[in-house]
Amino acid sequence: MLLVKIYYIVKPLLPRKLQLALRKMRIKAKLPLYKNIWPVYRQAGQKPAGWTGWPENKKFALLLTHDVESDYGQDKCERVMAIEERLGFRSAFYFVPERYSVCPVLRRNLVKRGFEVGVHGLKHDGKLYNSRSDFDKRSVKINKYLQEWDCRGFSSPCMLHNLEWTGNLNIQYDISTYDTDPFEPQGGCAGTIFPFCVQGFSNGSYYVEIPYTLPQDFTLFNLMGHTDIDVWIKKLDWIAQHGGMAHLKTHPDYFGFGEANGHREEYPASLYVKFLEYIKDKYTGHYWHVLPNDMADFYSASLTRSANRSIIRPSAILCPTCKRLIEQNSITCFTPFVSNGHTS
Ligand SMILES: [Zn+2]
Repeated sequence: MLLVKIYYIVKPLLPRKLQLALRKMRIKAKLPLYKNIWPVYRQAGQKPAGWTGWPENKKFALLLTHDVESDYGQDKCERVMAIEERLGFRSAFYFVPERYSVCPVLRRNLVKRGFEVGVHGLKHDGKLYNSRSDFDKRSVKINKYLQEWDCRGFSSPCMLHNLEWTGNLNIQYDISTYDTDPFEPQGGCAGTIFPFCVQGFSNGSYYVEIPYTLPQDFTLFNLMGHTDIDVWIKKLDWIAQHGGMAHLKTHPDYFGFGEANGHREEYPASLYVKFLEYIKDKYTGHYWHVLPNDMADFYSASLTRSANRSIIRPSAILCPTCKRLIEQNSITCFTPFVSNGHTS
């Protein structure tokens, strides 16, 4: 975690090209080491204790979410919404309150058209979880935006997370973890393709954690250089087969619509369209497609109904290879699998 902190301190000084080159090199070096746990980590398909299935008897669940990184991404939200509306999907958009001016008209429009809005960190500077005292201060502000925007969901920038500290936030759910993604800075993983409950807070509160389960667009297309959606398809089919939750997190900032003045980090939005079409063509009638709010409601309700509740305490995140619990406050699994000799 110290390396992560240092990286985010020096990051503003590094040219963007160099930042990306370093991240690409890191992934290239790690990829062969993680082939047994990425993109599919088999143990993550295990159903939680007491699991009684998805509503309406659906085979698997489908969630689409978007972290909006900048003004540039905010300007593209309308076009992303239009794609999804045309194909019969809905999603949730998470905005950064203190990095750019979040448009209240867009927020209202999203909700009016059946989408959802949430909060994506506070400043997006990689420092949210640097210290407990800083987090406590920032969480007061985040709670203010959650209330002002009338939303209940949080998505942490850079996937940095501390599930115990997240208990400060007035949320019903969080989407800051993943079933498996060894390429994220923090390391470790939630190790499940199902939602789970984080509880154990002194005030008796809890929230639902909804890990993403399909590789992020930026990792796949920008850092790894894929030009097709084969990895998404492979993972989706595996999730469907195991009756889990397909949760795809993408970034409107990187959607390319073929414009001459497009950003160099864009990938063709047609890849996203292709993936949604694949889901429809292959699985229509078999998936429970909802917004994260609905997923959190469903899971909260199932907790009160079931005696065999699937509850994970804030510190109970497993390292996928060594099965050790990762201590949330020390995050022992940063570059864990190699340094500890757990390479699979
Ligand atoms: Zn972000």
